[in-house]
Amino acid sequence: MDRRYFLATSGIALAAASSLTWAGDKQGTTSSERGKRPKPTPTPITTKSRVIVIGGGMAGATIAKYLRLWGDGIAVTLIERNPTYTSNIMSSMVLTGQRTLSSLTYRYDTLLSAYGVQVFNDDVLEIDTVGVRVKLASGTILSADRIVLAPGIDFDDVPGLGTSDRMPHAWKAGPQTTLLAQQLASMTDGGTVVLTVPKVPYRCPPGPYERACLIGDWLKLKKPKSKLMVLDANPAIVTEADNFTKAFALHGITYVPNAEVTQVDPVSSTMSLSTTMGSFNANVVNMIPRQKAGKLVAIAGLNNSPDGRFAVVNQLTYASTVAPRIHVIGDASATAQPKAGHIANQEAKVCADAIIRSLANLQPDPAPVTNSACYSTITMSQASWLTAVYQYNPATAAMAAVAAGSGASVGWSAENFKEMNTWFTALMADSFA
Ligand SMILES: Cc1cc2nc3c(=O)[nH]c(=O)nc-3n(C[C@H](O)[C@H](O)[C@H](O)COP(=O)(O)OP(=O)(O)OC[C@H]3O[C@@H](n4cnc5c(N)ncnc54)[C@H](O)[C@@H]3O)c2cc1C
Repeated sequence: MDRRYFLATSGIALAAASSLTWAGDKQGTTSSERGKRPKPTPTPITTKSRVIVIGGGMAGATIAKYLRLWGDGIAVTLIERNPTYTSNIMSSMVLTGQRTLSSLTYRYDTLLSAYGVQVFNDDVLEIDTVGVRVKLASGTILSADRIVLAPGIDFDDVPGLGTSDRMPHAWKAGPQTTLLAQQLASMTDGGTVVLTVPKVPYRCPPGPYERACLIGDWLKLKKPKSKLMVLDANPAIVTEADNFTKAFALHGITYVPNAEVTQVDPVSSTMSLSTTMGSFNANVVNMIPRQKAGKLVAIAGLNNSPDGRFAVVNQLTYASTVAPRIHVIGDASATAQPKAGHIANQEAKVCADAIIRSLANLQPDPAPVTNSACYSTITMSQASWLTAVYQYNPATAAMAAVAAGSGASVGWSAENFKEMNTWFTALMADSFA
């Protein structure tokens, strides 16, 4: 499909979104007028079409790039609070010393130099979902025709943890990953490590189990008298159960299902966790709390899933069901697709296409398909794989797994481990380069 057929201009539109006062000003766009036109033929996108993307992670970086690639009349502003992005994918290997965080760090330069995305290093504090504007920590206010919200996840508070950093989640790669790596390295041989798995839905379904496998393999090598225990708030291993069950037996990992953490004590020299399956002591605790959409989603009133944790979206366009010009993609949205970087990349492309069509007064693609591949490190040098394909089901108005396209490896291999690196490099290049 030629996505450029509706473009009126070929010049690069790098105009900054206008700075306005927050209250009482008028909107600078005509998208709502365009939206009301009954004419079904493509309407040229003008250089005045603007999209603001909030969050430069897997979803946000990808959509910023593809909005520029496929709809080059659109001015795209990406707002990200951190100057660089650190990939969560592969970050568990920092714990075993196989990766450094710097090897997982991505810059935003190419989005600007190759695609013309304007990047703001700032924190979005508020969204005006009707006026389609954002307020930044710097005080700047930006307006657009559409906003794409891709803020990832935030965590529930853990009772008893307070502000202690003794039980890192390391579930957003960064300082917590370094801290957990240091704690594991300095633990005396013979100590106990506990890793907790939160209730679904959480970011990266196989992630906690693959991390447990890596740590288990590493402990066997470095601290063979130590123990590893997985406390799972879910009734069973949530994905790739065959492979992980076998791997836990291989590494001597104790697995406790239905163990939801109710209270922790991070203060005593031996830390403790109270759970629905009893109390446990540990020397190192990787406490992965329950998750919800990045807090901006709730601040904007878009957290309308039944449990109030994520944003319900039209799954053809990723527009919020309560704010049609605000789109929510990646881990923050509520769909049956897993909260995964590969899926975030795919949702970004479906959403970019839908926004470009919408700005041209066209209907979205009625039959989007997404896919996800995932490799799990079962040992420090071998991996398993999991793949899934999702297709829009008009009867349920939702993306649903296609059985024929989904599956998992039987066992694990060094070959898969090699392919995992190839897959990762390609995914990150598609998102950031
Ligand atoms: C240990 C681990 C292993 C994983 N392994 C895999 C894997 O093998 N395969 C896979 O597909 N997925 C994997 N994932 C999941 C993957 O990392 C996430 O699903 C993916 O990052 C989600 O993308 P996102 O864009 O929604 O969120 P993120 O990538 O987290 O990006 C969100 C961005 O928004 C920014 N932001 C948030 N709020 C604001 C604000 N108010 N203002 C400005 N910026 C803001 C944040 O700084 C961040 O950069 C793994 C995750 C973990 C933790």
